[in-house]
Amino acid sequence: MPFISFEGIDASGKSTQINLLCEFLKKKEIDFLVVREPGGTSIGEKVREILLSPESHMFPETEFLLYAASRAQLVREKILPALKDKKFVIADRFADSSVAYQGFGRGIGIDKIDSINNFATLNIVPDITFIIDIPVEVSLQRKAEKRDRIELEKREFIEKVREGYHVLSKDPRFVLIDGNRDIMEVHHDIVNILKERKII
Ligand code: ADP
Repeated sequence: MPFISFEGIDASGKSTQINLLCEFLKKKEIDFLVVREPGGTSIGEKVREILLSPESHMFPETEFLLYAASRAQLVREKILPALKDKKFVIADRFADSSVAYQGFGRGIGIDKIDSINNFATLNIVPDITFIIDIPVEVSLQRKAEKRDRIELEKREFIEKVREGYHVLSKDPRFVLIDGNRDIMEVHHDIVNILKERKII
């Protein structure tokens, strides 16, 4: 069964679109699993707490390795068994988030990110990755009332992440979706692309 992932800056609409896609899959009686990064396993949820804690200063390398650790656990504990069970797996963020955030955003070399990502993921790569793209300003407006470590980062950092996603989108595995539109329009685009690519 397919393995697909959703990427994009915060508040781009990943969870909203994943929820709509799940409704669609339920109607079609397709068995699926949704996993969330960081987290999705009990070890990963603990790693998530460390990552989102605003108290500690964290170096980019530490941050990346924590994300990779949670990803390693998620792949082995959840993703691979579900794929073996013929489930449709949907990841809310996966390895590409580290390329965009720790690579393009924080400046860690992309080669290093790729090699540690490959080690963490056992080289599994999504069949298709939707990058939901919105301007940084829209992201900041949508999440105006929420606060965590990433959300306190400067606007330039989020700009770099967004540009990183634009660079990634040149590869045919990625589909860049304009997320600054009506929620249902975005959803229909996603479903149509999955149909075109014979994934559903
Ligand atoms: P993410 O999972 O990417 O962080 P969410 O799906 O949680 O994003 O969406 C963040 C906020 O933006 C939510 O309040 C959601 O209702 C809203 N939102 C999502 N998609 C759209 C859209 N296309 N237009 C307007 N608001 C949206």
